[in-house]
Amino acid sequence: MIDSPVDSVKGRDSLQTPDIETIHIPPPKIGPHTLSEPIVEIEHIKAHLALLDSFHDLRTSVEQYRPSLDTPEFARPPAGPQRWSWFAERAVGRFQRWLTKVSVQDTQEWEEKDIPPLDVLMVWHAYMLHPRWYAEDCERLPLSGKLKTLNDQFMRAAVILRHSLPSKQSDTRNKHWTTLTGLPFDPIEAVKQAYFEEIQCPMCQAVLKAPYKNDARAYSTRGYAQARFSITCTSCNFDVTKERVGLSRFITDLIKDTGANTSSNETGCTYLAGTLLSSSGRFDRAFAHRVKNEILASATFKASGRLDSQETSSLGQAGGIHEARNRDLQEQCEYSLEKAQTKLKTALKPGDAWIADRIISAYKTDRPFSIDLGAAIVRQGSFTDKMKASGWTKRGYFNKKEREALLRVAVARYCGFLDIMYAAPTSFFVPTLDIDLVWHTHQLWDSNTGATACPISGAFLTTITLWPKNGYPSPFKRHARCGRTILDTHTSRIFRLQGTNRHP
Ligand SMILES: [Zn+2]
Repeated sequence: MIDSPVDSVKGRDSLQTPDIETIHIPPPKIGPHTLSEPIVEIEHIKAHLALLDSFHDLRTSVEQYRPSLDTPEFARPPAGPQRWSWFAERAVGRFQRWLTKVSVQDTQEWEEKDIPPLDVLMVWHAYMLHPRWYAEDCERLPLSGKLKTLNDQFMRAAVILRHSLPSKQSDTRNKHWTTLTGLPFDPIEAVKQAYFEEIQCPMCQAVLKAPYKNDARAYSTRGYAQARFSITCTSCNFDVTKERVGLSRFITDLIKDTGANTSSNETGCTYLAGTLLSSSGRFDRAFAHRVKNEILASATFKASGRLDSQETSSLGQAGGIHEARNRDLQEQCEYSLEKAQTKLKTALKPGDAWIADRIISAYKTDRPFSIDLGAAIVRQGSFTDKMKASGWTKRGYFNKKEREALLRVAVARYCGFLDIMYAAPTSFFVPTLDIDLVWHTHQLWDSNTGATACPISGAFLTTITLWPKNGYPSPFKRHARCGRTILDTHTSRIFRLQGTNRHP
């Protein structure tokens, strides 16, 4: 069982709530690096907690929403736990549409008109909490690259929203959003509208409109936000699924010419997902280039003889050749991402085969992002619930200085946690809840620069992705306990350094 933040900070040896007058936190030190500024701002932690509280309230509103009697079946939300997944998927659709339309040229008026609705911020939040994929996508994908430009606006938005009443909406932001996206600003109002997801047929490129939910009595196929989604292409009768579109995305990235466009190479968008960001948090174009060339040079992923001899001569246009080659490779993979994964392992040299799973994991859905953001939001819900249950998300909870001291101690413990990871970079430690809160806040503020600014960037970026959905699976329990023991010891060291005997 995970401790509450208060218990974590107090510790099991009856450490009392710190006294603001006597506590003195030493300058943050991670390994040999002494940081000149606080690694995480207290105001940012407060803003993050307020945001989590708003996310929790949003989920409650979604769960309590009752559609009117004349709402068509395909626009009705599912009942039970599936409803939040359905809403999260819709939120990702709104996020993607916003990202497609938003201009990042002028961020001067951001506060007044550009802060997107809460559900879109929730998607962005979940994305940033997968820092490895987020950092690589921001470098590799032009769409996510906009987020890199807007990066520090996320926390600014959180701080602004913390100081405004939850019920108070900005008319300027509301109008700007609707003009930009054509969608209602209020997420609950958006739920009331029938909404279709546009999905491109990987076989003939026709754009199909898929309802989020299908009435099982009227349709044989499943809706976009339902498990085992499929839709039949109205142009070519191909059975389109998210996995099949994902396979097409993988092949598209694979056959993009890395030498054709210098500007593309500079942004990294011609490389396969999972190959560009090294484990040390560095963008390694040489490695990404080598992996891609290895795959393309293998017999497994060569164009078939039929395509070489017949189709290419008649296609003429480069785009047409690419589409034909994409279809050819889809067929060779039997339209299965799993088959592509097996082929990928045989195409790569033994020393590089480990990366096949990582690459394919980024192409499991139709969307351009390398993680399933809807699923990420659902997973994030358990952390939000724990923070809500602790009372820390309550508005004004940290207005008292003695309570604010808890956050200062949590920041110090987070630095201690990073120090431990620096000392044992190959070990796996699970943070306690208060440390996790600071860690998440750090990622939200520093998600793009963290890879280079944090002296233990490799561990910083990778460990968080292992956070389990329901507690710790058994292999990690020992490490979790180990981490806790070391953290308690480390916390003792912090207090001993200050000459107190609070924590023997
Ligand atoms: Zn089609």
